[in-house]
Amino acid sequence: MDFAFTEEQQEIFAAVREFCDDVLKPRAQEVDEAGEYPWDNVRQLGKLDLMGIPAPEEYGGMGLGFLEWAVIGELLSGACTTTGAIYGAHMLAEYPIMHFGTDEQKQKFLAPLATGEKIGAFGLTEPDAGSDAGNVQTRAERDGDEYILNGSKLFISNGGDAELYVIIANADPSRGMRGLTAFIVEKGTPGFDFGKDEQKMAFKSLSNRELIFTDCRVPAANILHKEKGGFRVTMQTLAVGRIGMAVGAVGLAQAAYDAAVAYAQTRVQFDQPISGFQAIQFKLADMATDIECSRLLTYQAAWRKDEGLDFEKQAAMAKVFASEACSRVCNEAVQIHGGYGYTKEYAVERYFREAKLFEIVEGTSEIQRLVIANRLLKEAKLR
Ligand SMILES: Cc1cc2nc3c(=O)[nH]c(=O)nc-3n(C[C@H](O)[C@H](O)[C@H](O)COP(=O)(O)OP(=O)(O)OC[C@H]3O[C@@H](n4cnc5c(N)ncnc54)[C@H](O)[C@@H]3O)c2cc1C
Repeated sequence: MDFAFTEEQQEIFAAVREFCDDVLKPRAQEVDEAGEYPWDNVRQLGKLDLMGIPAPEEYGGMGLGFLEWAVIGELLSGACTTTGAIYGAHMLAEYPIMHFGTDEQKQKFLAPLATGEKIGAFGLTEPDAGSDAGNVQTRAERDGDEYILNGSKLFISNGGDAELYVIIANADPSRGMRGLTAFIVEKGTPGFDFGKDEQKMAFKSLSNRELIFTDCRVPAANILHKEKGGFRVTMQTLAVGRIGMAVGAVGLAQAAYDAAVAYAQTRVQFDQPISGFQAIQFKLADMATDIECSRLLTYQAAWRKDEGLDFEKQAAMAKVFASEACSRVCNEAVQIHGGYGYTKEYAVERYFREAKLFEIVEGTSEIQRLVIANRLLKEAKLR
């Protein structure tokens, strides 16, 4: 593993950093408070070719890797966590099409996602199928060249705003999770509607809508991978999504740390900046160490993905460590700001609320530990 980036990579990151500093960061608070999907930011990501970083050039992507996707996601999340979350959720539709799609599906569906012309979303979670993803109740019944979808999805990021959805339904309930099947469903398909948008403790401008399918007819040609092959699509997509969550957590933690350092160097108590107190210095040291560990785990998972190595365990490790580290860092960032950190005047108040999400989405911390432990025990058996 070598994370010394090439000149070309550094140029791309520098351009993204400039966009973050000039466009995203100054509006981040406003975006959060507006409660409206930030279309301006999202369209600009498309214009800058940032919506298809790892997608092949022939399908409108940049033809780069998941490592570049991770570094860019980190920068976006650090500047505007909501925009970073949209970028991450978009990949949950783009990746399965890129990885499992036929050439025809890629021409039709991957290209508009990679260019940012259309936004994507991934619908797995249901009222009774959260951590227990195999318990999906949405049914897919074959009828000639079509499948009829019935059921609902909950919490779906980009829901309602996205134009393309990868939906996990069960085509053979008797086979349990082995009956799961992944479909590409377009917004506007008759029988596909949107329900409530969740009111959340943070990320107010990120849509998290209910998706409702009522006798919704989807062409059999829109199946990803194969009928009853949806479990594999789901697991692979979640593994990439976990890297995405770790990326968001690293970006947010870095923003909280930067804010804490700046504040500690300017806030004077007892006739000196509070950064002079060892109690504060130790907090900063622990925060920086947490971020460094998170970043290295995250880059490692992305690098393994790019190298074609097994990356699921590393993605789960990156996700659980980075998300919990992000919560620790944001907590300490508020502490370093004292009473002001508890007010809306400082961004750390928002960071603190935002951080919690990373411990829940794409599989909770408990589920990540299950994934890691299962892998470890399997590996121990093989030896
Ligand atoms: C803002 C937001 C965005 C989201 N975006 C999407 C999206 O785009 N697409 C999508 O499909 N879903 C999305 N989700 C759903 C999210 O992935 C789920 O909420 C998450 O996987 C947890 O499922 P649950 O909420 O049903 O919790 P539950 O599964 O009910 O878990 C409740 C608690 O029980 C614990 N638990 C459950 N099972 C076990 C076990 N076997 N061992 C130990 N502990 C266990 C959990 O860790 C948790 O602490 C989103 C959720 C939110 C809040």
